[in-house]
Amino acid sequence: MPEQLNKAQRALAEKATSFAHDVLLPQSDVSGGTPEEFATARSSVIRESKAAGFYGMTQPEEFGGSAASALELTIVRDTLASTNAPLMGAVFGPGPGVLAGVGEPLKSSHLAPLLAGEIQGAFGFTEADDASPTTAERKDGYWLINGHKSYVTGGEQADFINTLVTISDAGPAMIVIDTRSEGVTIEKTFGSLDGSHHAAFRFSDVHVPIDHVIGKPGEGLPRAMRQIGDVRLSLAALCVGYMRWIDGYLTDHLQQPDRTGEPRGNKEGIRLRYADNRIQTFAARSMVYRTARLADSGANVVNEGIACKVFATEAVAEVVDTAIQLVGGSALITGHPLESLYRRVRALRLAEGGSDVLRLNLARGSLDLDKGIL
Ligand SMILES: Cc1cc2nc3c(=O)[nH]c(=O)nc-3n(C[C@H](O)[C@H](O)[C@H](O)COP(=O)(O)OP(=O)(O)OC[C@H]3O[C@@H](n4cnc5c(N)ncnc54)[C@H](O)[C@@H]3O)c2cc1C
Repeated sequence: MPEQLNKAQRALAEKATSFAHDVLLPQSDVSGGTPEEFATARSSVIRESKAAGFYGMTQPEEFGGSAASALELTIVRDTLASTNAPLMGAVFGPGPGVLAGVGEPLKSSHLAPLLAGEIQGAFGFTEADDASPTTAERKDGYWLINGHKSYVTGGEQADFINTLVTISDAGPAMIVIDTRSEGVTIEKTFGSLDGSHHAAFRFSDVHVPIDHVIGKPGEGLPRAMRQIGDVRLSLAALCVGYMRWIDGYLTDHLQQPDRTGEPRGNKEGIRLRYADNRIQTFAARSMVYRTARLADSGANVVNEGIACKVFATEAVAEVVDTAIQLVGGSALITGHPLESLYRRVRALRLAEGGSDVLRLNLARGSLDLDKGIL
C-alpha cells in the first residue's frame, strides 16, 4: 500500500515530486508551442531525467540502467501523474519490451541502440478486420513477409517494428522488421484523440534476415502478451496519479464559494459525486500498489495486471467525467486541464487491450486455467 513504503521508497516519491515541480511543470506551455520547441523541451527533460536517475529505471543493468522494481516504477508514475505535469513520456528511457533477453545479432543491432536512444522501435500487433493476417514464409536464408499492420504508434519515426506474424508451420512469432527494408510502405499516418501519432504499414514481399525472429518461432503470442502485460500495470499507475490530481483540483474547486457565497461543496448532490470519485481513486490506488508488490515478489500477475488496467482506465474515465460535470462548462473550454485529461485517458480503454477483451482473458484465467487471486 502507498502508506507502507520504506524510507528509500518515500524518498523516491519525494524526489519525483521535486522533479515534476522543478523540471516538468515549468514546461506547461509546451503543448501550444512549435514542434521545434516541443523537441527542445523534450531533450531538456531527458537530460534532467538522466541526471536525476529516473531515465534508466526502465532499462536493464547490463545496458547501464537501474532496472527498478515494479513498486519503484509505480511510485514514480503515480507521483508524476499526480501533478498532471507535461512531458511525462520523456522521463523514462525506452525499455527493452519484447526484445528483453534477445541474443546476437539483435542484441547489438537493435536492442543496444534502442536503449541508448539512437534508434526507435514500434509495436505491430493490430490488423484491420477485413485483411488477411501478416505471414512469414521461410525461404533460403530469409523470411518473406506479407501483410499489414493498421495501428503502429510512432510508426512514422520508427527504425524497426516488432511485428507479430504467423509462420505457416510454427504459428505466431515476433519478427523485427526494419522500416527501411524494400517492400515496407506506410499506407497512411493518423493521429488519435489523445494526441498520439500512428501509422498503418503494408509489407509486400519484404525480405527479413532469418535471425530477426525474437525467441523461438511459435512463441510470438506469449512474448507479445508479456510486453503488453508490463505496460498494463504502468498505465494503471498513471491513471491512479491522474485521479489523485483530479481529486486535488476538485477538492480545491468545491471549497470555493459559488455565487450565493456558500462553498460549492456544501450541496449534498455534489458531495455524493465527489465521494464516488474518491472511492474509485482509493480502490484503484490500493490495487495497483498491491499488484506491484506481488510482481516484485515473483508472482505471476497477468490476471491482476489485467484487473488493474481495466479498473483504473475505466475509473479515471468516470472520475474525470464527473469532475467536468461538477465544475461545469468552463472545464470543457479547450486547454482546460480537465478537458485535456478527458481526451488523453479515453484511448487507454482500447490501447494495450480493450476492456472487454481483457475481461474475457481474466475469466479464462480463472475458469479454465485456475489462475489469479483476489
Ligand atoms: C492510442 C492507441 C495506440 C495504439 N497503439 C498500438 C500499437 O502501437 N500497436 C498496435 O499493434 N496496436 C495499437 N493500438 C490498437 C489497439 O491495440 C486496438 O485498438 C485494440 O487492441 C482493440 O482492437 P481493435 O481496434 O481492432 O478493435 P476490435 O478488436 O475490433 O474490438 C472493438 C470492440 O469489440 C469488442 N470485442 C472485440 N473482440 C471481442 C471479444 N472477443 N469478446 C467481446 N467483445 C469483443 C470490444 O468491445 C472491443 O473494444 C493502439 C490503439 C490506440 C487507441
